[in-house]
Parts: sequence; C-alpha cells; structure tokens
Amino acid sequence: MKFGGSSVADPDKIRNVARRLVDAKQRGLRVVGTVSAMGKTTDGLIDLAHQVSPTPNVREFDMLLSTGERIACALVAMAIHDLGQEAVSFTGSQAGIITDAVHMKAKIREIRGDRVKAALDEGKIALVAGFQGFSRDTMDVTTLGRGGTDATAVALAAALGAACEIYSDVPGVFTADPRIVPNARKLPTISYEEMLEMSASGAKVLMLRSVELARNHGVRIHARSTFSDEEGTWVQEGDPMEQPIVSAVTHSENDVVFTLSGIPDRPGVAALIFDTVASAQVNVDTIIQNVVHGQAEMSFSVPLEDVPATRSALDGTKGDLGEFTIEENHELGKVSLIGAGMRSHPGVAAKMFRTLADSEINLEMISTSPIKISCMIARTEIPKAVRNLHDAFELENEPVAE
Ligand code: ADP
Ligand code: ASP
Ligand code: MG
Repeated sequence: MKFGGSSVADPDKIRNVARRLVDAKQRGLRVVGTVSAMGKTTDGLIDLAHQVSPTPNVREFDMLLSTGERIACALVAMAIHDLGQEAVSFTGSQAGIITDAVHMKAKIREIRGDRVKAALDEGKIALVAGFQGFSRDTMDVTTLGRGGTDATAVALAAALGAACEIYSDVPGVFTADPRIVPNARKLPTISYEEMLEMSASGAKVLMLRSVELARNHGVRIHARSTFSDEEGTWVQEGDPMEQPIVSAVTHSENDVVFTLSGIPDRPGVAALIFDTVASAQVNVDTIIQNVVHGQAEMSFSVPLEDVPATRSALDGTKGDLGEFTIEENHELGKVSLIGAGMRSHPGVAAKMFRTLADSEINLEMISTSPIKISCMIARTEIPKAVRNLHDAFELENEPVAE
C-alpha cells in the first residue's frame, strides 16, 4: 500500500494512513506500506539545496532528499503503534532496495527484502521509505526520480508477490487531470501501454517507471483514493477487443525546448549530439530537424530538471561540431491524446489539430507514437487546450462499443 505526499501531509493524515494500514492487517493480510515525504517536503529540500549551493553535488542531494521519506515512514510507524499494532520502518537500503548508481534517477535493480519479510513473519506491518535505494557499486544512497515512491511500491509488490495499491489525493486515473477538467471521468481500467504513454506525457498520477515495472513484472496496480473506499482504476493488461480510440488527454508544463542552429549537415551529427546528451542521463522527447542551405537546425525538448545537464552536454560537442548557437524556450508545454484504438482509426490527428486551430492555438512541434499524438504549444494555452480537446473527443462520456 503506497501513500503519496498529500496523503501524509500532516499529523491527522498520518494517523489516517496508519488506520488504513491497520485495517488491512486486521482483515488478515500481511501488510507492507511505503510512503512519500510529507506534503511538499521534497520541493522544500530541493529549494534549500539550491539556496546553499548553485549546483548541488548529486550524491549529497540524494542524502538530503532521502530524509523526507524516512521522516514520514517513522511517523506512520509511531501512529500504528498507538493503534495497538506492531510496525517497523525501514530506509530503502535497510529494505534491500538495490539500484544502479545514477543519482537522482536511479533504477531499481533488485529487492532483497529480507528484513521486510522477517518483519511480516513476526506479524508486524513493514514500512519502507519510498523513493530511495542504495547502489551496491558505490555503497551510496540513491533516489529514484520525482514521484519515485510509486516505483518503490510496484517493485516491492513484484518482489513479494503482492497486490499493489497506490493511494493518492485523486480517486484514480481520469480522462484528464481533474484539477483542469472538472468533468473528467474516472477510468475503471487502463492498459499498461496507454498508462505508459499517459505517464510519459505528464499525467503524474503514476510515475512512468512504476508503470514500466508493473508491465514488466505483471503487477496489476489499483490506483485509488486515500480518503475514501471507492473503487479506483486498475492498471492492467489491455483487452484487445475494447480499445477506445481516445482514452485520455494529458499535459505537461515541464518541457524546455532547445534549438541548435548552424550545425553541420552531415551524417553522424545527430548521433553525436544525442549520444552526448544521453550520456548525461537526459531523456529527450520530441525532436525535429530542418535543413536550410546545407545547414541544419535541430529542436528537441527535455524535462526542466535536465536543462543544466543538457546545456553542459551540448557545450561538450562544440569541439567536434564547431560553433553553433543554442537557444532555450521555457514558454512551451505539451498536450497529448492517448488511445490504443488510434492505431487503427485515421483522423484523430486531424481532429486534434482542428480543435486546437479553432481554439486559436499555434502548434510549435508535433510528435506521435502509434497510440499517442503530442503537440507543443504555448504553456499559457495548456488549460484551454486540455479542456477543448476533452470536449471535442467527448471524453466525459463512456465510450460506446463499436
Ligand atoms: P501523490 O502525492 O499521491 O504521489 P501526485 O501529486 O504525484 O500524488 O499525483 C496525483 C495528481 O496527479 C493529482 O492530484 C492530479 O492533479 C494529477 N493528475 C494529472 N493527470 C491526472 C489524471 N489523468 N488522472 C488523475 N490525476 C491526474
Ligand atoms: N517525495 C518524492 C517527490 O516528491 C517522491 C514521491 O513523491 O514519490 O518526488
Ligand atoms: Mg506521485
């Protein structure tokens, strides 16, 4: 059972989470809880680090950020004791969560979990601090990237052969962010492949890596509310007979577009640029290239947190490519339509572009996958674009079987 930051934001909420864990235990289950840092603690710690140092050392960043989850976890254990049950909290490394050595976006390699299993065998509720692990290569504490407790939860479920419940401040996965689209509809189920595209394009209700882990290990995720008992959304293998053309609209305001002009137009240039950027652990999204009079211009988007790494990686290519100019655009965002049925239904892109045009919104960049269409647009237009697309594709209504 995973509880996000807003679910443990204050002492009352921590007691509520303890109650839910104890209820599950009293239903006869063996219970493992994992929690995120309280409320906006992680944002606060990131801000503090930047106040102390303009470019904080990444190892120390992870030492700092991992404390947030440790605090929440210990407090939940205390609240469980007060309810008359035994509980024991573990840091990621005590729980045997072994990752690679990439600070701030480490990937879980293996969960040993001996102490977690021993605690369960002793009849205790085991609590694991989310979002963290340790690297056996460096013996250092690592963190898993923003929203990483979702990944902790799925990996624990896979390692323990357990069901995975992810509790949050929303009662499930919706056809759009319910904060932006009030009539967004809760989806009873969503396939792994659609959820992967949703998470990758900004629906932060489930972290992308957690969905990858769930798909790879066949873990069904039940995404549901911390504050009610209503049934949430099941993320599971899709049914090929029931594929809505469009399932959801997502958005992201976290993208920065780099434009490189005056780079040579010869084979291998793109490979060199993107090899260098990938070596800096940056995940590049939309890419476009134009060639005018033998000179290439290339634009690509990266997540905001990867901007410093991208800048220094690009500077590193200037020795091979000569001088070129680098521009950054921080004023764009992305809206995306996701639907497995899109694969076999033409016309979705046309209708999306028409809807945006009717809303007087310019398209800056477009990218597609077989089940997703994404458009980069002015960030200020994102809420309007999301609402108008949700309306145009009638996502508030249950899809009708064809
Ligand atoms: P937690 O702190 O529990 O991990 P997050 O803040 O990471 O929760 O994720 C939940 C938030 O995700 C919701 O408050 C909601 O605003 C946002 N969200 C974005 N897209 C969606 C969507 N399609 N369905 C549900 N929630 C969404
Ligand atoms: N506390 C971390 C974050 O804010 C991890 C998480 O919430 O899952 O990103
Ligand atoms: Mg989250």
